[in-house]
Amino acid sequence: MSDCIFCKIVEKEIPSTIVFEDADVLAFMDIGPIVKGHALVIPKQHHDPVTETPDEVLAKLFLTAKKIAKAQMNAFGAQGVNIMQNNGRAAGQEVEHIHVHVIPRFEEDGHHWNWNPK
Ligand code: 5GP
Repeated sequence: MSDCIFCKIVEKEIPSTIVFEDADVLAFMDIGPIVKGHALVIPKQHHDPVTETPDEVLAKLFLTAKKIAKAQMNAFGAQGVNIMQNNGRAAGQEVEHIHVHVIPRFEEDGHHWNWNPK
């Protein structure tokens, strides 16, 4: 989509720090990391939201998120990882091109937010 910021990142019209790329997906560092090492995984084709995204695209996104999580553990010694995905403004989605957040976590990362609402 011509006005989609993540499509522009795929086309390299907007610079990003790419950490993984193949024919289907791109992984790059989030411009506003919640924790150092926060990465995003996106499909190269524009899809959104999750409920309209083909199963094979979702599978590839999650498999790529797994690769990135392993790399974060090896590269930064992350002790945990949050893999999450927002859909819709009500859920905090800002960019309407499906993306998976892969956020390395450390016992002492000083970030008290927890995805478990209980
Ligand atoms: P959302 O809130 O939609 O789930 O997450 C969008 C994410 O995209 C945010 O974490 C934000 O920091 C990141 N982001 C927005 N614009 C850009 C950009 O131009 N480059 C990069 N690398 N990340 C971006």
